[in-house]
Amino acid sequence: MKQSGAETDTESYCLIEDQDGGQQEVFMTESVRSRPGVVSRLIVSCGDPGLARDYLVSLDDKTEPQPRAAAVQCVTPETFIAATSQRQIYSDEVVVFLDRHITGRTLSVFAGLRQLASASPFTCLLVVPSLLNHLSPDRIDEIQQILNQLRESICASGVLIILRTGFVLSASSSIARRIDGLRGFRRLLLPQLTTTFVDGAKLFLVINEELDRVQTEKASGSSTAKASARQLTLLGTRRSWRSVFSDSASSGIRSKSGSVAVTLLVCAGVPWLLYWGVRLLSLVVPSVRQLQFETLRPRSVHEMISLYNRHNCGDVQLAGYNNGVNHFGWKFPEKTVVQTTRLPGKTQLSDVSILDLETRIRNLGIAAAAEEDSNAPATPGGTHFTVDAGLTLNHCIRELNKFNREFYVVPNYSWISMGTLYFVPVHGSGSHVSTLGDTIEDVLFYDGDDEQFILTRRGDAMFRDSMYNTSRHRLLLRLTLRVKPKSAYFVRQETMESPSAEDIQRVLDDIEASHVEIRKNRASSPSIDVFRYYVDSAADGVGTLEIPRDSIGRVWDRLEETPIVSNLFHWFVRTFAFHVELFLKSDEFVVFWKHHQTLPISKIQLRRVLRDGITHSACANENCISADLFMTRSNRDVFLRFVATHLPNVRSNPGKQSL
Ligand SMILES: Cc1cc2nc3c(=O)[nH]c(=O)nc-3n(C[C@H](O)[C@H](O)[C@H](O)COP(=O)(O)OP(=O)(O)OC[C@H]3O[C@@H](n4cnc5c(N)ncnc54)[C@H](O)[C@@H]3O)c2cc1C
Repeated sequence: MKQSGAETDTESYCLIEDQDGGQQEVFMTESVRSRPGVVSRLIVSCGDPGLARDYLVSLDDKTEPQPRAAAVQCVTPETFIAATSQRQIYSDEVVVFLDRHITGRTLSVFAGLRQLASASPFTCLLVVPSLLNHLSPDRIDEIQQILNQLRESICASGVLIILRTGFVLSASSSIARRIDGLRGFRRLLLPQLTTTFVDGAKLFLVINEELDRVQTEKASGSSTAKASARQLTLLGTRRSWRSVFSDSASSGIRSKSGSVAVTLLVCAGVPWLLYWGVRLLSLVVPSVRQLQFETLRPRSVHEMISLYNRHNCGDVQLAGYNNGVNHFGWKFPEKTVVQTTRLPGKTQLSDVSILDLETRIRNLGIAAAAEEDSNAPATPGGTHFTVDAGLTLNHCIRELNKFNREFYVVPNYSWISMGTLYFVPVHGSGSHVSTLGDTIEDVLFYDGDDEQFILTRRGDAMFRDSMYNTSRHRLLLRLTLRVKPKSAYFVRQETMESPSAEDIQRVLDDIEASHVEIRKNRASSPSIDVFRYYVDSAADGVGTLEIPRDSIGRVWDRLEETPIVSNLFHWFVRTFAFHVELFLKSDEFVVFWKHHQTLPISKIQLRRVLRDGITHSACANENCISADLFMTRSNRDVFLRFVATHLPNVRSNPGKQSL
């Protein structure tokens, strides 16, 4: 039992759920409660007694940072229910370890919590071992409905913290015990079967930090501590079931006959059956999804922020449309990808800069400002386009076109999220504006580490330093981009034979053309194709282009529109191709061009990227040439050796495959 040094207190002790029963129940008395500086904490184990016990033991561990609570009790749900009904109990803090399923006992505990709340305000922290609200967002899980009701009673005067978790691994947690019993079957689990596991020590630390934070806020008289609700998710680290079973197995000795049977099952292909069984079953049974998932797709900003809290943002990999994973094969072995493209999104075209957004947020609050924005009529002659980050560029191009507006520049492929534009230099072949990032005027993001909304605008040091910087835990929510009246284009194509690096530079420096790009279909070929696009001011409709891109560029968007073809296309590229884009400074381009015909590159596309002065940009201080290179995966090593030898400092596009 935990006691805090000098505060050792005979009136506070714990009752652990005990199979033999026969516990004596004594509660903290008024004397404890009224003692200055003593915070009482009640632990109720309502589903996972082992976990509750481990938490209590951790509170006794002098090597861990100690929470403020000095008087701690752990009780069974029955004791808690009985005591609350007789109004015999009080506590400053109550921590309830819940089960994944709602039982009559859970409902009684919730009734007890309501009873307690009606007597005096307290801080209630509920540990809910279920991610169903994230994995099955179309239906509210039963526990969430009850939590919503509880929120109303507790938050009238106290603080409610709902902490959802992945599977918790601690010495006696229920999942750890179950795994321990099945450890001999670990070879039946494929390494691909992964989910998220929370280390018990981490969970306990988070509980203590959250409760201590409320105490600190209360002590400082902060208004947020008075009556509030906070919902956060602790996914934990992504791990394969197999590795978790192996950790558990290191201590065990299995019978020989058992391991022979498992070997036979492995030979019969049972691991694959099990894997596909879980995957297929999870399509129809939502509760199975927690056994195997890699990606979450939140449906509201509220849900998104509950995932991107200070304790969890390190285990989350934010994604836009998720081409990084799907097309380029990025891997985040220990993290969970959280996609932003399912978030509800709105666009607004405005005649003036949206730089007054901050003032409106300050005056009205974020929700009211967003509401006001969405109700405002779109202005047909707008110069600024404000969009929610989860929308796709494809959608925004079509929205703008309705008002006869367009972006200054567009890439060949528009199935990209708008939020990505701040983190990846998404570019086309514009001679005057290179990247969509160059047209971003302001952004609103949420800092996961500080749990704060930040609005920053072009010209601010924060804007300059955070653009193209993915090392910080920042979730982009909204952005404003400059837009222009829609143009029509026509193209002039020419073929050049054996151009020098200087010839190429001259072609790309042509500012008469609105867009310039160069293609070479095989590195060894002596000729290049040059495409120069001009604004068609006559716009008589004959041979005019809506978007300045060639026939190959137009293919990518079409492929994405057909799900089967798009899935095959992405699978092919991530499995067999190496698609990298170099941002070459002038001297680096000379080296690249001198050697490129000897390299096993299948396709080269060259475009100009102008200097942007952004701290983390490859083109921060000088114009670059972007060399978009496509080759088969088998040629990757030859190419990487060339880069390491001849272009050791070259930067690449962080939105594609990395060097
Ligand atoms: C077929 C094809 C053609 C392409 N052609 C071009 C081209 O012509 N020009 C060009 O420039 N590029 C091109 N690309 C590359 C493309 O621009 C990048 O791959 C881009 O990153 C894809 O966008 P996404 O939304 O899928 O990004 P994701 O892979 O989902 O994310 C990219 C990065 O942005 C971050 N991010 C995204 N949204 C947010 C958010 N809301 N908050 C915080 N971080 C966020 C992610 O964490 C990640 O680091 C092409 C890609 C493909 C597949």
